[in-house]
Amino acid sequence: MSYQVSPIGYVHSCFKEKFAIPRQPHLAPAARGVLELLPPFDKAEALDGLEQVSHVWLLFLFHQALEDQPRLKVRPPRLGGNRSIGVFASRSTHRPNGIGQSVVKLDRIETGRLWLSGIDLLDGTPVLDIKPYVPYADSVAQARNGIAPAPPTSIPVQWNDLALQEAREHAQRLGEPLVELIEQCLAQDPRPAYQQPEPERRYGARLWDVDVQWHYPQAGMIRVLQVS
Ligand code: SAM
Repeated sequence: MSYQVSPIGYVHSCFKEKFAIPRQPHLAPAARGVLELLPPFDKAEALDGLEQVSHVWLLFLFHQALEDQPRLKVRPPRLGGNRSIGVFASRSTHRPNGIGQSVVKLDRIETGRLWLSGIDLLDGTPVLDIKPYVPYADSVAQARNGIAPAPPTSIPVQWNDLALQEAREHAQRLGEPLVELIEQCLAQDPRPAYQQPEPERRYGARLWDVDVQWHYPQAGMIRVLQVS
């Protein structure tokens, strides 16, 4: 038996490519986006009451990771990319039905639009449903997860003077906290854990319409080289 689902809207996100998106929501509070709702959900009545809610669950499709062949085991980057675990023990994008879920901050509501932050979603992500976060039910004080017991350790981010100046100028033009966004995303160390890059190797990612380049001058440290 199969069921059909249809998006209720699409996310316009600061993340234009998968690389450098944090691996869970809230790791980059400066990561912002807008969920644009489709008819008939773009009417005010569909959002009536949501102004009383600070955070929402988004159920969405990993539309750039959909696969025909289901996987039973996955290799999460968190485990260095070289240890596999069962698909249902992970939050990997490789899933039987390609469904992702994230709790994100609801900053502002307009008719047909939700302004969100702390997102971990690629631009263009199709959203299947929105549900209010319910603190007493969704936050489990005694919960444990031996695979991901704590947030990933963040690493220090340094700037070349010119890169910082460029980032500040783009931030002003965009009206977005771009410096914070770059720092929060790079502090997660987006590179696959098994890669040990040479100091001269440059990495890059696109945030909003801005290209960011960085390198690893020494183990456990990132320096932003260019923001253009
Ligand atoms: N919080 C969600 C969950 O637990 O279902 C997502 C976790 S998943 C490990 C996060 C990664 O999904 C991000 O780092 C990004 O690379 C990837 N991602 C985000 N949106 C995507 C999309 N629409 N299609 C494919 N991959 C996506």
